[in-house]
Amino acid sequence: VKAAIWHGPMDIRIGDVPEPSPAPGEVKIRVAWCGMSGTDVHEYESGPILIPTEPHPLTGQSAPVVMGHEFAGVVAEVGAGVTGFAVGDPVTANSLIHCGICRFCVRGQQNRCSSLAILGLSADGAFADYVCVPATIAYKLPEDFPLEWGALLEPMSTGVRALRRGRLAAGERVVVIGGGPIGMGVVQAALALGAADVILVEPVEQRRALGQRFGARALDAADDVRAALADTPADLTLDCVALPSTLRLAIDLLGPGGRTVLVGVAIEPGQIDVTDIMLHEKELIGTAGRLHREDFPALVALIGRGAIDAAAMVTRHIALDDVVALGFEAMRTDRERHLKILVELGR
Ligand SMILES: [Zn+2]
Repeated sequence: VKAAIWHGPMDIRIGDVPEPSPAPGEVKIRVAWCGMSGTDVHEYESGPILIPTEPHPLTGQSAPVVMGHEFAGVVAEVGAGVTGFAVGDPVTANSLIHCGICRFCVRGQQNRCSSLAILGLSADGAFADYVCVPATIAYKLPEDFPLEWGALLEPMSTGVRALRRGRLAAGERVVVIGGGPIGMGVVQAALALGAADVILVEPVEQRRALGQRFGARALDAADDVRAALADTPADLTLDCVALPSTLRLAIDLLGPGGRTVLVGVAIEPGQIDVTDIMLHEKELIGTAGRLHREDFPALVALIGRGAIDAAAMVTRHIALDDVVALGFEAMRTDRERHLKILVELGR
């Protein structure tokens, strides 16, 4: 079957791979849609970052690897010992493959697993007509839920979890720094979950306009945000950019007792004013990935009742053959124009 395979930096090829067969405990899924993530683009530009060059301890896989971890499709085959899934079921999956036996997995904190692997990076992923995943990470979608939206649950649930980690309460004032695909999901989810006021900080005008369409106030420069919040500080800020300057802004904008959630992946260390955090009882909170059993149902419900506009998150649909030219290259050279590019499989 056809697949997009990572061979090295700037070297992703469409090639043929054997049609996978589900191992015991796995489900085989005929992929309908698979989204492209910022992580995928980083691996394309300057990988391997998360792609293993030695066999991964949990999956045994290393490069070259089939990419793609934000997908939905239909169950095509069920491996031995799998219960709860049947051929024909519409499904998506959490990309976080976990061991199931470490003390974090046993506690139900699978995103903190000691030997975490990620689909499409440390295991063959879903830029392919078929993918096999452990049934423990597969998630059944409602029958009437569009598969195209199912492919958005993995990235958008990162934002839902970030808001849960930040203990968002109804009526709070929220600042989201960065209007990329994750940040825009956080904006929508924060409003849907009852935030009274959401402010998006984003330099790109098109993205500010989209944030406003979702119901946020949108501001460009950090100085404007500081001025706007001088008398009415934020209860919760989410840094979806993770530059030293955005971390500082996120903490500065908080009032006493406020919480900052670190959502973006930082590539350089930040500096924080520890006295400000101590004196004003501010909190810094990390968030990573998602727990599909907790975060997917909330998101499915919000999208299902129209509180979150999933369709507005997608900026382009492409075929697998065009994944490099119209996908990876577009995200690399024209990132500001795109939120989510979806690849159609199985055609
Ligand atoms: Zn584990």
